[in-house]
Amino acid sequence: EADRALLAGEAIPAAETGLDAGLPVLAVVGRPNVGKSTLVNRVLGRREAVVQDVPGVTRDRVSYPAEWAGKRFTIVDTGGWEIDVAGLDAAVAAQAEAAVDLADAVLLVVDARVGVTEADDRIVKMLRRSGKPVVLAANKVDSPVQEGDAAALWALGLGEPYAVSALHGRGSGELLDAAVAILPEVSAVAGPERSDDLHRIALVGRPNVGKSSLLNQLAGSERVVVNELAGTTRDPVDEVVEFDGRQWVLVDTAGIRRRIRQARGADYYAVLRTQGAVEKAEVGVVLLDASEAITEQDIRVIQQVVDAGRALVIVNNKWDLVDEDRRKQLEWEADHELAHVDWAPRINLSARTGWHTNRLARALDTALAGWNTRVPTGRLNAFLGELQAATPHPVRGGKQPRILFATQVQAAPPRIVIFTTGFLDAGYRRFIENRLREEFGFVGTPIQIGVRVRE
Ligand code: GDP
Ligand code: GDP
Repeated sequence: EADRALLAGEAIPAAETGLDAGLPVLAVVGRPNVGKSTLVNRVLGRREAVVQDVPGVTRDRVSYPAEWAGKRFTIVDTGGWEIDVAGLDAAVAAQAEAAVDLADAVLLVVDARVGVTEADDRIVKMLRRSGKPVVLAANKVDSPVQEGDAAALWALGLGEPYAVSALHGRGSGELLDAAVAILPEVSAVAGPERSDDLHRIALVGRPNVGKSSLLNQLAGSERVVVNELAGTTRDPVDEVVEFDGRQWVLVDTAGIRRRIRQARGADYYAVLRTQGAVEKAEVGVVLLDASEAITEQDIRVIQQVVDAGRALVIVNNKWDLVDEDRRKQLEWEADHELAHVDWAPRINLSARTGWHTNRLARALDTALAGWNTRVPTGRLNAFLGELQAATPHPVRGGKQPRILFATQVQAAPPRIVIFTTGFLDAGYRRFIENRLREEFGFVGTPIQIGVRVRE
């Protein structure tokens, strides 16, 4: 009966499609084998099984659009996270915490036949800390005889335990009624939908590096007037230009054209303007004047792009002025001044002559791909597990921090949260970042790594 009443949407991970951005998110958490995936399958009906057979569809923090009692929401199944948690209760709790962070409400599944374990206790503590509303499912109550097992879970202090059998469907209707009742109308965690499919680029750099020259070179005669584009509501200072046979939004082009006259204090305004442009863009293209030494201001502009969490492409402009000596010198400067962004695509071109400006699009694509990279949680944990086994964190003051669990909580830019038993040295974090880059690419994008210490 529950199956009939449940209207599942297309079983495509919502996170992949962005279709259901804004819908409230319900995370199904609990220790391994309590029946989380079985319960989610029940909510979704048969279609979910079809998705499992599609190659390339990862079982990573799989979110599905679902509907119950006329309310649409996104359900997140953490049962697919393949993490080796053998006996590691803290890792189980860390995994649940990662899911709870991204949810509006939580459905905690406990195996009523087993009762409350140490891992369940840890999850409950974490849930209290999170302040998120929780509905408790006492699963594997396959027959009325076992109702008593469910009642014992009142002891968790999470209110009524809803006795269900995920396997047979028993009691799942009431459970879902309770779950949708605690969901807000609009998600407080799911990001807003982006309808604009044109990529947004900011050309930035200190004065006279050639921003307006490059803009003119790229735009050529193909310039599109913003309000000619149907359905666009763009900032009038932005401009749609066409190069490489595609349209791109160049943000703050008016600012580039107008070229604020360099007066006293202009430096300050230049920093603000760069900031504004970069924040509106997906990619920051930082122009350097390759005929001159790299300056502090160049490095500051690059840092602004990194700090804003935007993809980064570095352009060595005025290449027509670069001779062999200068080229060698520039290489040396880059090794010393730009080593921390050696992951950014770098291209040499001449905005004046147009030489190699056709290479910009490829670099932008590469950086955007890196920026949008999503590493499945299973792969990430397998990788970090091996990394940690081969190169454990150094012992500090008699203690050795361990990685419990990690998950990429967002893309664009990639943000990874690592749950550990202790603080990670900056050196070890850098080591992790470098290895992540070797393994998963992340070309052209900063990676944000957060560490959460859990005992
Ligand atoms: P997960 O690791 O929490 O996602 O757990 P699964 O959904 O993979 O289920 C673990 C095992 O418990 C599977 O063998 C399920 O068939 C079984 N299971 C799940 N729900 C029930 C239930 O309601 N009753 C019984 N008897 N078994 C169940
Ligand atoms: P902006 O202040 O960053 O917008 O820089 P402009 O585009 O106004 O360029 C500053 C100066 O550098 C102008 O005199 C340009 O003609 C010159 N310039 C720009 N790009 C190149 C280039 O690729 N080669 C050479 N030789 N000069 C360039």
